[in-house]
Amino acid sequence: MPRSTRITRRQFLQSSSFASFACALPARSIFAPSEPPAAQAVKDRAPLHPSAFYALPLGSVRPAGWLRRQLEIQAAGLSGHLDETWPDVGPNSGWLGGTGESWERGPYYLDGLIPLAWLLDHRPLKAKAQRYIDWILTHQASNGMIGPTSNDDWWPRIVALKALTQFQEFTGDGRVIPLMDRYFRYQLSQLSTRPLRDWGKFRWQDEVLSVIWLYNRTGSAYLLDLARLLHQQGYDWVAQYANFQFKEKITAEYIKLNEGGGLKDLALSTHGVNNGQAVKTGPVWSVVSGSDVDRKAAAQMIADLDRYHGLPNGMFSCDEHLSGRDPSQGSELCTVVEYMFSLERALAITGDPAFGDRLEKLACNALPGTLTDDMWAHQYNQEPNQVECSLHHKPWVSDGPESNLFGLEPNFGCCTANFHQGWPKFAASLFLLSGEQASDQGDGLIAAAYAPCEVHTMVRGTAVHIAEETLYPFRGTVKLTIDPAVPLSFPLQLRIPAWAAGASIAVNGKPEPQPQPGSFARIERTWRFGDRVEVEFPMQPRISRWFHDSVAIERGPLVFSYGIGESWVKLRDRGMTADWQVYPLTPWNYAVQLDPDHPAANISVSESEVGDVPFARKTAPVQLRVKARKVPAWRAEDGAADPLPQSPVASSETEEEITLIPYATAKLRITSFPVLKS
Ligand SMILES: [Zn+2]
Repeated sequence: MPRSTRITRRQFLQSSSFASFACALPARSIFAPSEPPAAQAVKDRAPLHPSAFYALPLGSVRPAGWLRRQLEIQAAGLSGHLDETWPDVGPNSGWLGGTGESWERGPYYLDGLIPLAWLLDHRPLKAKAQRYIDWILTHQASNGMIGPTSNDDWWPRIVALKALTQFQEFTGDGRVIPLMDRYFRYQLSQLSTRPLRDWGKFRWQDEVLSVIWLYNRTGSAYLLDLARLLHQQGYDWVAQYANFQFKEKITAEYIKLNEGGGLKDLALSTHGVNNGQAVKTGPVWSVVSGSDVDRKAAAQMIADLDRYHGLPNGMFSCDEHLSGRDPSQGSELCTVVEYMFSLERALAITGDPAFGDRLEKLACNALPGTLTDDMWAHQYNQEPNQVECSLHHKPWVSDGPESNLFGLEPNFGCCTANFHQGWPKFAASLFLLSGEQASDQGDGLIAAAYAPCEVHTMVRGTAVHIAEETLYPFRGTVKLTIDPAVPLSFPLQLRIPAWAAGASIAVNGKPEPQPQPGSFARIERTWRFGDRVEVEFPMQPRISRWFHDSVAIERGPLVFSYGIGESWVKLRDRGMTADWQVYPLTPWNYAVQLDPDHPAANISVSESEVGDVPFARKTAPVQLRVKARKVPAWRAEDGAADPLPQSPVASSETEEEITLIPYATAKLRITSFPVLKS
């Protein structure tokens, strides 16, 4: 290990593009003047079974405040430049007609680049995305096939369809729907002889989303036949979780990884990203089947994943197969963003507010926690108790020794291509339309997740603008200003997280009835220009219980960690970015002293300004302080913390007060703590 080349985090930030990031941010001129659309949401067409809520047309919700900053950082980082430094999505991509990578990486990149570019109205990024889209739209084969001719795998085309539907919503490009129609007719004619296999077989539900999207726009009956055929050939995720068998850390031997011949069904059914994508399966299929069992399946899946593989950052372990509850196990970045997308879809279809709670937890913790502040480097696997990020093998089921480095493509490049969708799709999903009734007269708006944004949409045929001002998740106040074009009666429903006992709502200063945690609070009235809704979420710290009866400390959607001192050591340059190892500079083996019945009594809170980089360690917007003692027997081996000692634990070490910071701001951290004997 070249210890002499170790540099501090501060030096890293200065030496990386981050230091110049303020001045390197795109000038305002590259953001096109925006004329936000006020389009009508598209609902499920009979005989499809109505969703509880519907996505607003893309472009209706635009990020503001800290969330816009987050997207700007992303655009100035790897997302905005990946094609310039990573050949797999560069000019020789098969998805641009070249001879380079021709499978999933081009479509993965587009799936995040398109919403990032259009939500920011970022001209250069729009131009980058447009080149790919134009190639796809102008190179459809005469039989209807799309994409590079060097492979005929259905899977990368499932991703390309997700990108195309987004592009159509943002731009209204008239070429997309006819191309999708020809492609789906072709696929329907081929599937009986060339059925779904491996990745496509396990990720079929993501294609059904696009099939439903097209059916709702064209009404062509063959699309429902195609959806049924995909369901018939696809893996039965609902059955897997109706009788869940994978209750322990999976081993390579169990899933026959070393026997050759590619991944077996057992390996694919325990694969982390597949399970993250699968969370949406029941709700998506329920739109076709009408089955209540299907519609409720996502909650059951999440309950099983939490019970046997749950981690305090909101994720389940997958490194890269399901790997139990030890917080030294990892979760792959692809799984984080795919789980988020599944939750966004599941929330809209089912109307279950718990999916919004989990979505915020992933967006505010696991997603930024596995990317550098400047978003030029990411991990493959993140650990809740992450005491070192170095070349090691120890905890992973099957992943390689680079898996928790921060870099360009640690372990494998899927996450490099796929992570871009996380923030933009979250931003686009903050508000939904409630529209259970066939006519527009029942429509209303849903605040599904909270972050600063602006909404321009149509409700009951009238244009409505909403401005959401908030520092949530760092603060508990959310202010909405509702501006309908003319006075308009409709219900506004506000998600009240399950943790938010004691939340309050006021309309124009007048208190509403006390809302119920874990529900949508409904305000039905005639809205007039300038009406103000103010929501207060209680932000006292609370604890949750994890592996070996350890605790995690949470406040609102944020999970808190002890930030271990970090030394960032460059392993090698990687074009415009670099690969980094991170070594601990301070001890980390703390157990905390808490009264489990009154945790807030033992935790002090201090707030400071939300900085220009919302999840930066040096400007952590919230800090907690708690008493703790070291547990000398709890050590690390091969770069990973040993399993936590069973709580409660005894310690005769000196009592200290330690500072906890938001999970995402600590790249080395302890998140699951043993609890001291009282
Ligand atoms: Zn990945």
